[in-house]
Amino acid sequence: MSYERSKELFAQARRYMPGGVNSPVRAFKAVGGQPLFIARGKGALIYDVDGNEYIDYVGSWGPLILGHRHPEVTAALQECLAIGTSFGAPTELEIELARAIVEALPAVEMVRLVNSGTEATMSALRLARAYTKRNKIVKFEGCYHGHADFLLIKAGSGALTLGVPSSPGVPASTAADTIAAPYNDLDTLEAIFAREGEDIAAVIVEPVAGNMGVVPPREGFLEGLREITRRYGALLIFDEVITGFRLSYGGAQELYNIDPDLTCLGKIIGGGLPVGAYGGKRHIMEQVSPEGPVYQAGTLSGNPLAVTAGLATLRVLKRPGTYEELERKSALLARGLAEAAQEAGLVLSFNRVGSMLCTFFTETPVVDYATACTADIRRFAAFFQSMLEQGIYLAPSQFEATFVSLAHTDEQIQRTVEAARKAFAAASKI
Ligand code: PMP
Repeated sequence: MSYERSKELFAQARRYMPGGVNSPVRAFKAVGGQPLFIARGKGALIYDVDGNEYIDYVGSWGPLILGHRHPEVTAALQECLAIGTSFGAPTELEIELARAIVEALPAVEMVRLVNSGTEATMSALRLARAYTKRNKIVKFEGCYHGHADFLLIKAGSGALTLGVPSSPGVPASTAADTIAAPYNDLDTLEAIFAREGEDIAAVIVEPVAGNMGVVPPREGFLEGLREITRRYGALLIFDEVITGFRLSYGGAQELYNIDPDLTCLGKIIGGGLPVGAYGGKRHIMEQVSPEGPVYQAGTLSGNPLAVTAGLATLRVLKRPGTYEELERKSALLARGLAEAAQEAGLVLSFNRVGSMLCTFFTETPVVDYATACTADIRRFAAFFQSMLEQGIYLAPSQFEATFVSLAHTDEQIQRTVEAARKAFAAASKI
C-alpha cells in the first residue's frame, strides 16, 4: 500500500496543529508510523487519501454503531440543513432526543445535552459535589472520563494512591480531591470509604471499562459500587459515553440491572456529530441551572444537526433484533480472532462485552489496569501494522476497544479473521 498523500498531509498538519492532530491517540504514536488521512467512509469501510480501502473497527471511537453514512442518518441531516444549524434557542428536536434518552435508560428521569463526553462527566461531577456538599471523588485506574482537570488523574501502583496529576497543568490541589482505586476491587473501595467516605461526593465508573482495552465488571462489582455509595450517601455515576446505546438500548445499566444516580452519555447519541449528555434522578437534575443553582451552559448545546443525527441513529437502533444482530456479528469476530491466535501459537487474553472487543497480547487474564499493563505492546504494534497493511483499520493502541457496527457484513468479518491469521503470525515472531 502507498501512503504518500497521507505522509504529505501529515507533514503539513504538523506545522499547524500540535502533533498534526486534534486528539492525541489519532497520531499513531503507540504503534509507530504515522496517521492515515481519511477521505471518506461508507458502511463499515473507510478510504484514505491515497485511495486505500479499510474495514473500520474504530467507528470514530464508538459513535458509528450504524457505520459510516447510514442512509437514514444522512437523509435526516440533509433535511435538517434546510432549517438551520444553530439557534441558541429551544427547538422541538431537543425534546425528542431528551425523551428518547429518558425512555431508553432506566435510571435517567431528566437530561441535559452538552457537546462532548468531557463536558458530560465534568458537569455531572460538579452536580454531584453540589448535591452532596462534598468535594472528593473516586475514579478507577484505567478508566477515562474525558480531560477535565480533576479527572486526568493517574493512580500510582499503590492501591490507595491519592491523586497525582497525569498531565502538567493540573494543579496538585485539584488532583488532591480525586482518589484513584483499582477497577474490580471492592475491598479497596471499602477501605477508601471507611477512611474518608463522609467526604466523598461520588464514584464515577465506566460500567464496562473501554479505555484500558475492554475490561468487564466482575460479578458483583457494580452491585457493590451501588451498595457502598448508597451506604455512605455518595452518588454513583455511570459513565456510559461508550456503553450507552451500545451494550443494549438501555445501556450497561439495563444490561447489568443497576440504578446509578447519574449517567453520562456521548458518542452514539450524536450519531457522529459532537454531543454529550448527563442525566439522572429528577431531584438531582433539578439542581441544574436555571431550575437550580448549579451552573452549566453551552452555546451549541442541543444544536439541531447533532440532535438530528442522534435521533436518527436511535430510531434505527430501537428496531427489534438490532442488538441480537450486533451480538451475533461480534461473537463471530471474537471466535474467529481467538481461533486465528491459537493457530499462530499465541496464548492471548480476549475480553468482549457485546460489540466491544479487545485482544490483549498477554496470557494474564485482564481484569484491571495492572493486568492490562502486562500486555506486550510491541507485539500489539506488529499485529496492528500487519492488519493495517491488509486493509483492516483497528484503533492504534492496545488499550482501546475494537468496535463492531451493524454495518459490518459477515464477509467483512471473515476477511478480518483471514487477515488476523497473518497478523498474529507476524506478532508471534516479535
Ligand atoms: N468517557 C468515556 C468513557 C470515554 O470513552 C470518553 C472518550 N473516549 C469520554 C468520556 C470523553 O468524551 P469526549 O472525547 O467526547 O470528550
